[in-house]
This record gives sequence, C-alpha cells and structure tokens, in this order.
Amino acid sequence: MSLDEDALEYHSDEPSGKIETRTTKPTTSQRDLSLAYSPGVAAPCREIDAEPTDAYEYTAKGNLVGVVSNGSAVLGLGDIGAQASKPVMEGKGVLFKRFADIDVFDVELDHDDADAFVESVAAMEPTFGGINLEDIAAPDCFRIEERLRERMEIPVFHDDQHGTAIISGAALLNAVDIVDKDLEDLSVTFAGAGAAALATARFFVSLGVPRENVTMVDVDGILTTARADAGDLDPYSREFARDVPDGDLADAMEDADVFVGLSVGGIVSEAMIQSMAADPIVFAMANPDPEIDYETAKEARDDTVVMATGRSDYPNQVNNVLGFPFIFRGALDVRAAEINETMQVAAAEAIAALARKDVPDAVRKAYDDQPLQFGPEYIIPKPLDPRVLFEVAPAVAEAAMETGAARTKVDLEEYAEELEA
Ligand code: NAP
Ligand code: MG
Repeated sequence: MSLDEDALEYHSDEPSGKIETRTTKPTTSQRDLSLAYSPGVAAPCREIDAEPTDAYEYTAKGNLVGVVSNGSAVLGLGDIGAQASKPVMEGKGVLFKRFADIDVFDVELDHDDADAFVESVAAMEPTFGGINLEDIAAPDCFRIEERLRERMEIPVFHDDQHGTAIISGAALLNAVDIVDKDLEDLSVTFAGAGAAALATARFFVSLGVPRENVTMVDVDGILTTARADAGDLDPYSREFARDVPDGDLADAMEDADVFVGLSVGGIVSEAMIQSMAADPIVFAMANPDPEIDYETAKEARDDTVVMATGRSDYPNQVNNVLGFPFIFRGALDVRAAEINETMQVAAAEAIAALARKDVPDAVRKAYDDQPLQFGPEYIIPKPLDPRVLFEVAPAVAEAAMETGAARTKVDLEEYAEELEA
C-alpha cells in the first residue's frame, strides 16, 4: 500500500482521528459523580476563585497545551485553512503525548485576521498551561506571537520558529566544535527569511554569532539596506538587512563558514558549496527536499563538510520533536509564565551536550546499529533517544527558576529521577 493510502486508513480507523479524552478519576459510583460534577465540583471552583493559581492544583491546566493554528502555512501544503490543518494539529498532540506525556487540545481557528486570532487565543488562557502556535504564515506569525507573549501569563511558543532555532542551534554548537571554529568569528548565510530562518538567525545571534556576520537571502536575493530603504522588506526581515551590494545566493555563500537553508529544495549547487570557507557547516533544512542533497554536499569538497538536513534517512536530522515536547515538559512542571530566551538556550545546550555522551545500545538498535558517536555524522541526538526527556526538561525548568519565569520550584535532581522512572 502507498503511504497516502496507509495514512488515510490510519486516520479513518474507528474511532476517526488520532486523539480522544479520558477521565483520570474514579467515575463508577454516585458519590464519584457528585465529586466530579455538581455539587462537589463547587469546592475546587471556590478555591480557584479565591486563588487563580490553584487551577494548577485542581484542574488539568498544568499538563494541557493548546496546539493552535489558522492553517495558513501547513507543512509543505501552504494555506489550506483551519479545517484541513486539523490532522496536523492532532498529530502534534500525538507527539506531545508520546514523547512527554503532555495532553493537547488541538484548536483550529478560522481567522485570517491576525488581530482576531490574537483575541481568540488570549481568551483561552484559563484553559491551558501553555500555547504551542503552529503553522501560521510569516510575517503574521511574528506579530501574533509577540502580542500573545505580552498578554498571556502562560508560555506561548511558535514551534516552527523557535523549535527549529533551538535544534539547529544545538547542532551549530557541536558543529563549530568539530571544525574548531568560534561562534564569534563565524560568517553565516541563510537561504530563506521566513518564519524558521528569521527565528534561527536571531537565536544564532543569542548564542554568540555577531549579527553583522549574518547574511540572509530571500527569493529576491540578499537582504540589503538598499532593499530595506526601498520598502522591500517587512519589519522583521529588515532587522537583518546588511549594508552590502545587492547579490544572489551564490554571492552570499562565498567564503561563508555556515550555510543555513530554510527555504526551498534544490537551490544550492555543488559550486556554491565549493565556494564556502574551509570545513564548512551546511544545514540544508528545506522539507521534504533539502537545498542541496546530502551526498552532493559531502562530495563537493575534500575537507570536512558538517552536514545536517530535515530528513530521517541521513545523519544529523534536525527534527523539532527533539525540542518542543521536552521544552514544554520543563516549563509546565515549574508552572512557567513563559518560555524565555534563557530557557531556549538552556534547551539547545542540553541537546548539544547529550550528543557528546555515549549512546545506549537500545538507541543504537532503534537506528540499525549505526555507530552514533560524536563527530561530523552525529552532532545531534536521535529523535527516539529517551534520554532527551530527562536531559532537556530539567535544563529548561532550571533556567525558568533562575530567570523568575517559574511559579513553583522543583528539586532538579529529584525531578530528573522522576522523569527517568
Ligand atoms: P516561510 O516562512 O514560507 O519562508 C520561506 C522563505 O524561503 C521565504 O523567506 C522565501 O522568500 C524564501 N525562499 C523561497 N524561495 C527561495 C529561493 N529560491 N531562494 C532563497 N530564498 C527563497 O517558510 P518556513 O516555515 O520558514 O519554512 C521554510 C523551509 O524550512 C520549509 O522548507 C520548511 O519545511 C523548512 N523547515 C524545516 C525544519 C526542520 O528541518 N526542522 C523546520 C522548520 C522549517 P520570500 O519571503 O522572498 O518569498
Ligand atoms: Mg509546524
């Protein structure tokens, strides 16, 4: 059977879809029901009315994430709208549950208008411990997230931006080490200036790459101050406009230490890879086809090419599932009010550190006994490595406590042990 046929059957098997609600308390006796609902339920209501944070104590809020989309930029499918995006949002719920035991309500909002979208999401704060924004088109996604972060006192995290930034940031931390370069000296060229690329560029800057060493290229070429002055760039991409002559991707890649592709497949040639600085780092992350394919990039030169893609069939898959489940796990477990930059950097560093540890046999077995040893072919952990949970979640929780984002404290050692159990 083809993948499409298989997927339709998978989704339509009774019960339709991929998620359902389950009760977590006894419901067999009359007494149980009068605790679950009227009249007993009034007692927790009164407690929360008196102390709103008691919602974490008496409701499912603290383990519940809203995966919210308007369906305006869905996977490779584009603007397919809210209803058609529902399988993707349910799927995100599956990943949250499978990897971090977090419950999800998927919420597909029929809003084209960013302001209306913001109002709807902000009004849902009482329901959720966190909001994962998903598959919302740039540049609206930037403004939507910015405004929701200002208004809401629970984490708001646009995974297509920050998830990508954190995982590729982790990959970058390890890659520079392998080629013995320093973040402060890197010259980095981005193909793409959309949701993922802009967030990743900002994150690389917060990791220590000088902003003036970042060159971004969109479909019309290098983002330059001349283009910004001509009103050709939105306020978000303008932030990376450089005072250099107009040029194309080939110009921008010459002598670059790092190429980051978050654009479209097939736009990078062998010659462009050859024009890069010694031991180049090439993260070609367009899905499903990278900007340049793995073999072509590796074979383009005799020195080391540290290569990552979004694909599972090559080494170094940059996959967001290495991040969001565990980042939310750590944030929820300290009832965090946000997922701030320090928490994001902590997640990237924890992911990077894990790739340097010995890989257990069970993980290696799940990946056809590949060697999985820290080096050019293994710079980030594998998505099915169970250790990501207990390495990343405590690092995020710790950063939340240190930055004042946490509403409660956990003992980190005990917390890591609990996750491991
Ligand atoms: P997006 O917001 O639509 O951004 C796409 C960007 O690519 C736009 O800035 C666009 O330029 C630019 N672009 C298009 N054709 C180009 C060309 N020929 N040369 C240079 N730039 C070009 O999309 P996104 O959400 O950021 O995602 C971008 C890509 O990254 C997708 O392929 C996605 O699958 C991939 N991605 C991968 C991962 C991962 O591997 N973990 C995570 C996130 C995203 P204009 O603005 O001028 O149109
Ligand atoms: Mg997405």
